[in-house]
Amino acid sequence: MTKKYDYDVIVVGAGPTGMTLALSLARGGVKTLAFDKEADVYPLPRAAHVDHEIMRIYQELGVADDIAKTCRSSLTYDFLSAKREILMQFGGLSGMGPGGWPTGNMIHQPTIERIVRDAAAGEANLELQSNWDCKSVSETADGVQSSVLVNGELKTFTSRYLVASDGARSPIRNQLGIEQDDLGFDEPWLVVDVLVKDYSRLPKVNLQICDPVRPTTCVLMGSGRHRWEFMLLDGEDPQEMSSPEKVSELLEPWDVEGAVELERTAVYRFNAKVAKEWKKGPIFLAGDAAHLTPPFAGQGLCAGLRDAVNLAWKLIACLKQGADEGLLESYQIERAPHARAYIELAIAQGRTVCTTDPGVAAERDAQMLAARAAGVSMTPPPPMGLLKGCLAETSGAGSYFPQIVIETEGALRRLDETLGLGARLIVRTGGATLSSDTGLTIVETTNEMLGEFGPGLAAWLDELGVEAVLVRPDHYVFGMGDPADLLAGWASALSGTKQAEPAV
Ligand SMILES: Cc1cc2nc3c(=O)[nH]c(=O)nc-3n(C[C@H](O)[C@H](O)[C@H](O)COP(=O)(O)OP(=O)(O)OC[C@H]3O[C@@H](n4cnc5c(N)ncnc54)[C@H](O)[C@@H]3O)c2cc1C
Repeated sequence: MTKKYDYDVIVVGAGPTGMTLALSLARGGVKTLAFDKEADVYPLPRAAHVDHEIMRIYQELGVADDIAKTCRSSLTYDFLSAKREILMQFGGLSGMGPGGWPTGNMIHQPTIERIVRDAAAGEANLELQSNWDCKSVSETADGVQSSVLVNGELKTFTSRYLVASDGARSPIRNQLGIEQDDLGFDEPWLVVDVLVKDYSRLPKVNLQICDPVRPTTCVLMGSGRHRWEFMLLDGEDPQEMSSPEKVSELLEPWDVEGAVELERTAVYRFNAKVAKEWKKGPIFLAGDAAHLTPPFAGQGLCAGLRDAVNLAWKLIACLKQGADEGLLESYQIERAPHARAYIELAIAQGRTVCTTDPGVAAERDAQMLAARAAGVSMTPPPPMGLLKGCLAETSGAGSYFPQIVIETEGALRRLDETLGLGARLIVRTGGATLSSDTGLTIVETTNEMLGEFGPGLAAWLDELGVEAVLVRPDHYVFGMGDPADLLAGWASALSGTKQAEPAV
């Protein structure tokens, strides 16, 4: 048989999104090339937080325990006035989130990127290259052709699909002429990362200082580090503000001299944008290439990883399990509104923080203090669900399937380790009479293999008042209800007999 292309999928950009996608694809048997124009992981300060859902994805990649060892935890996320009154406080961040990991996990992005890259080394089906610079991509009759600069020489590769996870500036998005919706946020901030010598002199929780004189963020990071972010004011020069003298001046009110050592600084413009098209033929955008958020909700990288796992199972289904290509149309339909909702949350938080008009700030403070006095309390929002896409028309479709965690003698056991991965139909009884040729696993809650997880799952089904739940490989619920109906719906969703709705 003639080989039609060099790889099933080429992933351009080996940042957190690209690596998660590449590793997931390779583990699903998809022949994957992932490459990056840089020699190593990006060293400058970026993400400081990932949520429980992302830790579950890392669990699936087999790296969550190593990452967790490097994480720190903040009990609360406090928005303070200039006078340090608590305007708004998110609690419960160190408690277990629905994904079966702490709700908030403070990280050092280059450290976790390194852990994932190490896990990918030697992975069958995955070729990982550095210092490869993608110069152009073009659609061919049966896939994609990419031109890549390798050691000064332009080389051509072919693949059935290509994913551009090439970051905020995405050269591929630009080459394809894909426009972005600008959600209207554009503020310059100086990010200052420090190495910590004495934690006892540092804040123990994440802070937003809503001071109109200098809006400031102060957050925990992964082990050994801490971060400040200072909003730059009109007329301030980014280079001058990044100088060690200016940084010392900005840190002076925090009284941390001797307790921290400056590691690095960078100035970013915090933007909010969503690409209008996430797929052009066989070429997809993922991660920052598809969406950009201000960092106030700590969700940019998180959104990229959700893209990666959403796209991974669909590409595996099409390339390895005979699913109809129409399934891939659901990628943008599902992911774009989800990413946008988190961006809007971040913009709302950003607008609260970035107020520089003293009058407006005073009014804001009065309103927020009154709300707090009236007992308004904040908890991290539950995982947002999917609104439409590859979903059954049942109750619960699109909701997030929680991971049960059981503690025995101080050790934690998580459901996915026992239940396994991939699509799963969880049913109370009668599993033996059901079958599916889609490669999905059928599990009865009474199955001994589930141990104590079985009663937990049965109780969850009881609470929802349903007989069965069909969970997709990305842990979102396909549908709930009659098991035979769910299996039939799943089979037709994969075979393309259910039409995907148009992209929004
Ligand atoms: C100050 C700051 C704070 C943040 N805080 C958080 C947070 O707390 N939580 C959170 O979830 N997110 C946060 N983020 C966002 C997060 O860092 C990004 O969303 C995340 O890095 C995006 O990952 P990515 O893989 O999509 O893109 P990137 O990490 O940008 O990776 C893209 C890769 O593509 C490569 N590339 C580009 N062009 C080419 C080419 N032509 N050929 C080959 N390779 C190419 C690049 O070298 C790069 O390695 C923050 C960001 C900033 C700036």
